Amino acid sequence: MPDGVLVVGGGVGGLVLARRLALAGRPVVVFERSDRFGGQVARQTVAGVDLDAAAESFAMRGGTVARLLTELGMAEDIETPLSTPAWLHRADGSAVPLPATGVLGIPGDPSAPDVVHAIGRRAALRARIDALLPARVGADASSLGELVRRRMGRGVVDGLVAPVVRGVHSSDPHSLPVETASPRLRDELHATGSLAAAVQRIRATAPAGSQVAGIRGGMFRLVDALVADCERLGVRLETGAEAADITSESVTVNGRRVTGEVVRAATPVDAPAGRRITLATLVVEASGLDPAPRGTGVLVAAGAPGVSARALTHVSAKWAWVGERLPGLHALRLSYDGDVPDAIERATADAATLTGARIDRVVDATSAVWQRRPGGAWADTPEPAVGEGPAGTGLASVVAHAERVAGRLSADSPEPASGGRMEG
Ligand SMILES: Cc1cc2nc3c(=O)[nH]c(=O)nc-3n(C[C@H](O)[C@H](O)[C@H](O)COP(=O)(O)OP(=O)(O)OC[C@H]3O[C@@H](n4cnc5c(N)ncnc54)[C@H](O)[C@@H]3O)c2cc1C
Repeated sequence: MPDGVLVVGGGVGGLVLARRLALAGRPVVVFERSDRFGGQVARQTVAGVDLDAAAESFAMRGGTVARLLTELGMAEDIETPLSTPAWLHRADGSAVPLPATGVLGIPGDPSAPDVVHAIGRRAALRARIDALLPARVGADASSLGELVRRRMGRGVVDGLVAPVVRGVHSSDPHSLPVETASPRLRDELHATGSLAAAVQRIRATAPAGSQVAGIRGGMFRLVDALVADCERLGVRLETGAEAADITSESVTVNGRRVTGEVVRAATPVDAPAGRRITLATLVVEASGLDPAPRGTGVLVAAGAPGVSARALTHVSAKWAWVGERLPGLHALRLSYDGDVPDAIERATADAATLTGARIDRVVDATSAVWQRRPGGAWADTPEPAVGEGPAGTGLASVVAHAERVAGRLSADSPEPASGGRMEG
């Protein structure tokens, strides 16, 4: 029985697993096919400042990521986003602040003036029927969209939930499983009897501002810290090392057959493709953005005229550290569905429309295409697996799951380990 662990994939899932196993005394090798570690947590340099190229925050739920950062000596660097609200760019082209007391756009109080303002009196009246319906209505819904439609009506789905889900999860509420969207929502609906009350309960235990956090200096610093700690613990880290012919006991890497206990931390080649999105990041001069006229950003309703972005983040208004590093300038990030070759030009035009501010000069800009897979997209593999396939999308899920798998594998470990076996 080989005692070395071979981790296929050097994203956050693979690195967290490798570090935890190394702490338990197991020899570990991480094979990463690209030339850098981190996967969907990556840095990009725009206008001379290192910014996050993909993931920029983590959910605070469970406290797992914060605990990991504390172990890595980064507790002081955890930073919550500034609490100005986001805005909604509606299908008719007008903009309103996103109602304050919601979860994924679902209002905790459908009669609140900001909800009525955002979706109109008729849709808000329909949403109030939720309070009169028996708890079982919608309780068996498979998607978030179906659940909200059955309880609160189409106006809430199209006017609030769809733009938020498009912006936050890069998906449609009708294809987003309820548990992926909000693990507690269904249980709280059973417990409280209405969707609005369920939302209020969730908000009460996770008040606004404490739901997500980032790292001062960039989320990518987590990857740097994990790599450094893995090196300190003697983990062998290989880049340019694509693993093929993966079984639970061996992999082929650049023509070498290597044996060991294989853990997959990378998407199998035959997994569902997921959706491609393009992110454009602009650093601009625009004095109209100084007062952050759209708070931390704008979520765009489908069909809004003259705009093809689905969300805009005013990065330098959301994260204090970004604002400090770009004095007199603003960082904006716009996201698009699919591959968008002219993303920077489109983003410059969309930024003006969505913020209502004139963009005086684009100082620097970059764009990148990413693949987003639904959580659980490749949960079924013969070998043990970590990462967003089995764990679900998002760093909180990926880190907590990798820690659990590492705990299990360390407990199963035959003897105090002494060096992996490499053949080939
Ligand atoms: C644009 C964008 C924004 C996001 N924003 C957030 C956010 O704000 N908050 C949040 O919590 N989550 C966010 N996410 C999701 C989050 O980043 C991911 O869920 C998480 O990073 C996935 O980690 P992972 O280790 O499972 O996979 P990955 O990061 O995909 O890592 C897998 C690694 O395996 C490597 N690999 C693949 N095949 C092989 C092979 N055969 N051999 C060797 N190596 C291989 C890949 O090169 C990659 O480095 C975002 C994702 C994207 C794309």
